[in-house]
Amino acid sequence: MQIEKLYSIFQQFPKISTDTRNIAPNSIFFALKGANFNGNAFAKQALEAGAAYVVIDEKEYAEVSEKYILVEDVLTALQELAKHHRQQLHIPVIGITGTNGKTTTKELIYAVLSQKYQTLATKGNLNNHIGVPLTLLSIDSSVEVAIIEMGANHVGEIAMLSGLAQPTLGLITNVGKAHLEGFGSFEGVKTAKGELYTYLAEHDGTLFIQSDNPHLVGMTKGKNFQQVLRYGFSEDCDVNGQLIAADPYLQIEWRVNRGTYSAIKTQLTGSYNTENILAAVAIGLTLGLSPEQINSGLEAYQPQNNRSQVAKTENNTVIADFYNANASSMAAALDNMEVVTAERKVLILGDMFEMGDESATEHQKLIQRASQIDAPVRLFVGKAFYQQKDIAVEGAEANYFFASTSEAKAFLASQKLKDCFILLKGSRGMAFEQLMQEL
Ligand code: ATP
Ligand code: MG
Repeated sequence: MQIEKLYSIFQQFPKISTDTRNIAPNSIFFALKGANFNGNAFAKQALEAGAAYVVIDEKEYAEVSEKYILVEDVLTALQELAKHHRQQLHIPVIGITGTNGKTTTKELIYAVLSQKYQTLATKGNLNNHIGVPLTLLSIDSSVEVAIIEMGANHVGEIAMLSGLAQPTLGLITNVGKAHLEGFGSFEGVKTAKGELYTYLAEHDGTLFIQSDNPHLVGMTKGKNFQQVLRYGFSEDCDVNGQLIAADPYLQIEWRVNRGTYSAIKTQLTGSYNTENILAAVAIGLTLGLSPEQINSGLEAYQPQNNRSQVAKTENNTVIADFYNANASSMAAALDNMEVVTAERKVLILGDMFEMGDESATEHQKLIQRASQIDAPVRLFVGKAFYQQKDIAVEGAEANYFFASTSEAKAFLASQKLKDCFILLKGSRGMAFEQLMQEL
């Protein structure tokens, strides 16, 4: 099947479906394969549910009907179609990758840009080899600017996703130790994320960079960019800012080239979000928004999905940040606990998954770092933390170790914490939402 032919069908039927439980009327169903399913087997059902066409890659599922489009590989066809569609668009496309803060930064940029433009951004966290093409294919002619989150856990993925999304502007939020099992090492993380820089340099893209971050700056070495916008905390950044307060909501000041000065009150917590906000400011300014438009977008933004959210429970205030965790986001969360002005700070930290060979050392480091924070109790939950329960640290009296979330839950039920400011953070698999009831 020629991509042009598939594209002409897509122009008539511009909605894509991949799940028969949720078929958009008159859509094209792509019969993707997963670990436990073969989309081809659902093709007929998709047509019955209202799909206009089905794209399959196994002949035996094809029926004699023009509604079946047989391709060599469904996933490749989806990606090729998305790439072809992208090539027809003449709008700015912002590509975002990085270890932490991609989704938050994407949402902040969206909050800013939608003050002026019809903006489309990746939905939720659909940032992989399927999510990126689906996002691209959802860009219709009304969209004036698109923001594409790109995630990776292997070298080569960002190069591939950049080839699909073809960003004209881009940023790497940061690089840190995460998914080490797939990347091999921190160097591997930098190589993988740096593929976005390579793409931008080779395609006259505009680079946005947190220029106080030496790793990011190092990754630009030897590459020439059409335009570079620097954001960060030092005075010589194009957009520089500082955190004024985090109690627990962030108040931030930002400036452009030491000139225009603006102050904002956000509904976001976490000092690490300061740089995410500055990225959104830099992009907003570059795309022609006024400081007023930028600020009203940022002030209205409400974080969602257990990322940097502040929850007031009956007895306590909780930073509910258990969507994910890795060495660098944990460190950032602990730095934030030092910045916030609260009396009784409690830490509940869960295992960081996928840390490979560095798991033991990284969990140890975190126990050491966390033990420096003045707290009546600190909980370390999960097998990886539990294995380190006997390491010698100062402040150990307040440390409690639990091999599982349910054991931590029982302990919290007995403690009945009150008037505490609690950080609740761990990898998604720790299911820390279960602990909320006890707080
Ligand atoms: P994923 O890999 O799951 O897509 P992500 O990169 O999209 O993650 P977010 O979901 O935006 O990241 O944020 C996840 C967590 O990362 C936040 O809750 C916060 O703890 C941490 N985080 C966000 N921004 C930063 C930052 N600039 N530096 C360090 N940690 C951060
Ligand atoms: Mg994300």
